[in-house]
Amino acid sequence: MRRTKIIATLGPATDSATVLEKLIIAGVDVFRLNYSHQTQKHHEDRMKEIRRLSTKHKHAVAVIADLQGPKVRIKNFKTGKIKLTEGRKFKINTDLSTNDGDKTQVGISYKNISKDLKIKDTLLIDDGRIVLNVLSVNENIIDCKVITGGELTNNKGVNIQGGGLSADALTDKDIEDMSHAAKIGVDFVAISFPRDGNDVKKARKMMKDCDCNAQIIAKIERADALNNIEDIIKESDAIMIARGDLGVEVGDAALPPIQKSLIKKARDMDRAVITATQMMESMIENKIPTRAEVFDVANAVIDGTDAVMLSGETSIGHYPDEAVKSMSRICEEAEKQHSVRVSDHRINQNFETITEAVAMSCMYSANHIGAKAICSLTETGGTCLWMSRISSGIPIYAFTRHTGIRRRVALFRGVYPMKFDITHTDPLEANKQMIDQLIEQNVVEEGDFVIITKGDLRGKRGATNNMKIIQVGQALEHTL
Ligand code: PGA
Ligand code: MN
Repeated sequence: MRRTKIIATLGPATDSATVLEKLIIAGVDVFRLNYSHQTQKHHEDRMKEIRRLSTKHKHAVAVIADLQGPKVRIKNFKTGKIKLTEGRKFKINTDLSTNDGDKTQVGISYKNISKDLKIKDTLLIDDGRIVLNVLSVNENIIDCKVITGGELTNNKGVNIQGGGLSADALTDKDIEDMSHAAKIGVDFVAISFPRDGNDVKKARKMMKDCDCNAQIIAKIERADALNNIEDIIKESDAIMIARGDLGVEVGDAALPPIQKSLIKKARDMDRAVITATQMMESMIENKIPTRAEVFDVANAVIDGTDAVMLSGETSIGHYPDEAVKSMSRICEEAEKQHSVRVSDHRINQNFETITEAVAMSCMYSANHIGAKAICSLTETGGTCLWMSRISSGIPIYAFTRHTGIRRRVALFRGVYPMKFDITHTDPLEANKQMIDQLIEQNVVEEGDFVIITKGDLRGKRGATNNMKIIQVGQALEHTL
């Protein structure tokens, strides 16, 4: 049973219902609606389809609304494209209208960029394929020298090497999209390009204002975010290592150590973490991944990521379900290694809450007694998140009456949702019924150890205060 979760981005390639269904069957746990593309109506229709199919397959699939954020792009060329020659001059003109670019200059989507730039800064266009060096900045004109030339087409992304863009993380479009995402009931909202904890705080406030109780994923994709990483993690529910934009700003070679340290930080701070972008990029065109991609996915699993994400592979790829299947088998194989099942998480630290103490004790006992499963009766999924910060090979079952919580935990490594309504269960029957569900699903059999955690107060949030170790086959009726 795979512990690492798989996220698939929707796009033209997944527009038919059969592809979406194939992806769910192949094991997608979370879908990403990319609000940088397509209309709100389109996302709304896809959302309905996801919910319909996930009910049909009795598989809790979560949905992320990924907001565009202040992605800076050049505007268009009269001719659609130009060729830039190394050593020549080229201008960014913040006053130029949308379709007026030519071989000497082009417009840009963020007018204030001229205030953020100074002489000798480096602009990276189209994921760094084109490199420009800033010679001078005069109000609306940024004079540049072409360092790396080549063909440049309309609307390509622009990054500043090393960061420094002043743009707010939430644009007007993002605010509208956020309220749309709230309306269609997504489980997670991904905030693009946050600079610091405050950007995430603002997003949380806005989400509250539009009555959105989705969890927040902060996409780490600016060099500046790395300087404020602890605050960002603290203010978010999960982070995404958005290796595309981040790699452009910090340089590709800096990414591997950053990925490792971000995964560790997020886990240490009890947050979930997603590793994203170009994981199986060649599968956009090919039926099998490259060896390097196999290693990339496996390494993210070994680093401890909760989820691995597919972007172009599923959104515009020729083999979306093969990409999911390949990813799935690579994760499963990587998870077999002993080193990814042991943990010294919090070994020398104090716990702050009762729930946390129970969660940690539970994992410690489970790992040491060789439990087959953990049953966590949960209202928010919080106890399961804590438990899953400890690396282990033991499945954590989140028993909850809330559909939304069953979808939320779909993101957490090693956590599996189970439908269970404690408020409609005789408390003296609950232990037995949970174990019966596990027996029914062939997870445990007589003689196996199982650990149950729950609270004395049924249906109360954050109230987990006890754990029980049982051996399957013990008489469980009428036990609390
Ligand atoms: P994007 O984010 O796909 O929205 O650009 C991911 C990344 O930058 O890696
Ligand atoms: Mn990005």
